[in-house]
Amino acid sequence: MSKINDDSNDQTTGDSAETESTCFPWQSPSSRSFDDVGGLDSIKEQLERLVVRPLIENREEYARLNVTVPNVLLYGPPGTGKTYLTEALVGEIGYPFVKITPSIVQSRFVNESAERVRDLFTEAREIAEQYGHAVIFIDEVDVVLGSRDIANAHHEDQKVVNEFLTFLEESGQQNVYVVAATNRRERLDEAAVRAGRFDREFHIGIPGAETRREIFRTHLEGRPNTVSDDDLTWCVENTEKWNGAEIAITIDEAARRAVERGGDTIQHEDLVDAIIDQTSERVPSNIPL
Ligand code: ATP
Repeated sequence: MSKINDDSNDQTTGDSAETESTCFPWQSPSSRSFDDVGGLDSIKEQLERLVVRPLIENREEYARLNVTVPNVLLYGPPGTGKTYLTEALVGEIGYPFVKITPSIVQSRFVNESAERVRDLFTEAREIAEQYGHAVIFIDEVDVVLGSRDIANAHHEDQKVVNEFLTFLEESGQQNVYVVAATNRRERLDEAAVRAGRFDREFHIGIPGAETRREIFRTHLEGRPNTVSDDDLTWCVENTEKWNGAEIAITIDEAARRAVERGGDTIQHEDLVDAIIDQTSERVPSNIPL
């Protein structure tokens, strides 16, 4: 029987899980919520409607009419919050989740990668039987579900894609819910994005001014600060084309500077210094890494 691991050092985990080894790194539901995600309001509303209500809030009404919860694909440039949003979604629905990266699926041994995909979904089914539902988050899904058409597609990779597609189609009936993210939507196998597999897609782009303001806000919240609305406007105006990851790092840096100067609150000058510092180091975020 599969039980999830509770790594108490991981801030994304809750504290209700029992400990027993699983093949894949299952975690207790994240403690993050949609309120922790700056901006992205229309995507959060859609996820609320498509996923949270049918799975949690109005479960019985949706079940009575047999409403399907669609697997979701998030795509867009690096550092724009795809993983962060997924963790918030998992926090909202409160089921165990596992983050799958290509290295977790790919094996050096022929035939073993497809087997690992089978094992993943078997384990997810077992977790779902115990906890009600299980969420699989596939990061860099273009690597795992890359197009089978390209001339040098390896036979084993094709088997992995086939295996995944079959399980994706059946996942809903087994209370296994799948969210995937990619920076390279165009590399996905066509069959992956047809109805019944990932049938809802959301693009998350480089944040505009309003979203940057909200990201600054959410990351400052909970940290003592004297940052005013006008200060935030300065920050927003001086971080054009920055992604959420860069903003988060900058606020950490501002907090560090506040401590170093002996302060107990983050002030505008700390943010200004951190932004100037980060400006000299940053890689333009529209270049895929
Ligand atoms: P990649 O494609 O490189 O995996 P990603 O889109 O998954 O990137 P995340 O890892 O989710 O990006 O974001 C990196 C960090 O940026 C998050 O841990 C978070 O601190 C911050 N961040 C990004 N977007 C937001 C947002 N909308 N609100 C709050 N924080 C954000």
